[in-house]
Amino acid sequence: MPVAELHQDLRHAVRDLCKAFPDTYWRDLDARRAYPDAFVKALTDAGYLAALIPEEYGGSGLGVTEASVILEEVNRSGGNAAACHAQMYTMGTLLRHGSASQKRAFLPKIATGELRLQAFGVTEPTTGSDTTQLKTMATRKGDIYIVRGQKVWISRAEHSDLLLLVVRTTPIDHVKKRTEGLSILLVDLRTAVGRGLTIRPIRTMMNHATTELFFDDLEVPADALVGEEGKGFRYLIDGLNAERILIAAECIGDGRWLVDRATRYACERVVFNRPIGQNQGVQFPIARAHVNVEAADLMRFKAAELFDRGEPCGAEANMAKLLAADASWEAANVAVQTHGGFGFAEDYDVERKFRETRLYQVAPISTNLILAYVAEHVLGLPRSY
Ligand SMILES: Cc1cc2nc3c(=O)[nH]c(=O)nc-3n(C[C@H](O)[C@H](O)[C@H](O)COP(=O)(O)OP(=O)(O)OC[C@H]3O[C@@H](n4cnc5c(N)ncnc54)[C@H](O)[C@@H]3O)c2cc1C
Repeated sequence: MPVAELHQDLRHAVRDLCKAFPDTYWRDLDARRAYPDAFVKALTDAGYLAALIPEEYGGSGLGVTEASVILEEVNRSGGNAAACHAQMYTMGTLLRHGSASQKRAFLPKIATGELRLQAFGVTEPTTGSDTTQLKTMATRKGDIYIVRGQKVWISRAEHSDLLLLVVRTTPIDHVKKRTEGLSILLVDLRTAVGRGLTIRPIRTMMNHATTELFFDDLEVPADALVGEEGKGFRYLIDGLNAERILIAAECIGDGRWLVDRATRYACERVVFNRPIGQNQGVQFPIARAHVNVEAADLMRFKAAELFDRGEPCGAEANMAKLLAADASWEAANVAVQTHGGFGFAEDYDVERKFRETRLYQVAPISTNLILAYVAEHVLGLPRSY
């Protein structure tokens, strides 16, 4: 089947599924800061969250291109794929670097949704974007690691069975390069919570199920190590491009939803005896937002195609994430402005999307850090940090 047709079929199928979860569904969850269990179950049952898992492990073996279309359509429908996007891509680290027995044990269950692996623990309160400085320590003692430390902004930990945790296994003053000595552990949250791991929810401006994690001598079996000890930073970097492309696609979905809503309202709202959208002062910002969303979408597909061909795509994935996040944020501002006072009313959902899409200026990587990457790695400018 031609790729474009696959996308059309896929787009329509995801849109149909999302129709059962209208604005009122997301609005109600947002007000209660509740997790979209029913939506995530529907997406899982339809197999969409297993898009990137190879068929031999029970997934559909699709590429990042198709996975990105799925997440885009969720946001394009007014939903918020952030509730479950990590179930799609967190397993990539296990797939690429896990042992044969880890893959056999976990991937088929992740594919069916019996196991949720949608929590990824990198960020720490005192070190932030400077990942190599992270302080959570895992010390090997016979057949176990003892984990001590703290993580912050670890999303969906309360709705996940497994956590991919980035820890230091060799203290930073014992390694030659600061990227060495980091490792990745696959922590079983079902047994860890209450036995050395405490999860505390953080209430945020949008409904995001994010948390703080406290590790107080948590015992983790040594066979939970993914790949080789000390190589965790490289494994972490390997997974970032897929995440950036998928989140770019969500921003594209948000951007299109916001432009649609602004356009619709601008046509319907009559002030001074004419639709407000007849005024160029109202229509030009909407048109510009549309132009920027469409331009960002080209970079998203370029990055996704490179990724799926197995070619280097770090620059394109980062640029796609930056352009798409900027475009959706611009569209959000325009949608609020177009709606006038109603832009601030919960019943119009525009303010909700405004809050949701604002996140992508900061997470999973902030705009400044993308610019620093492009400056250094694409343009050859001196490293700034
Ligand atoms: C809702 C939410 C969900 C998240 N989910 C997860 C998750 O599931 N797992 C996880 O591990 N993390 C998660 N994060 C963390 C997220 O990845 C970080 O917030 C992000 O990478 C920025 O790190 P920081 O917050 O520590 O900011 P900091 O690193 O403290 O940076 C603060 C500001 O300073 C700027 N800055 C810092 N250094 C430089 C520099 N050298 N040059 C220019 N500007 C600089 C940054 O761009 C930023 O604007 C989440 C965050 C949020 C808010």
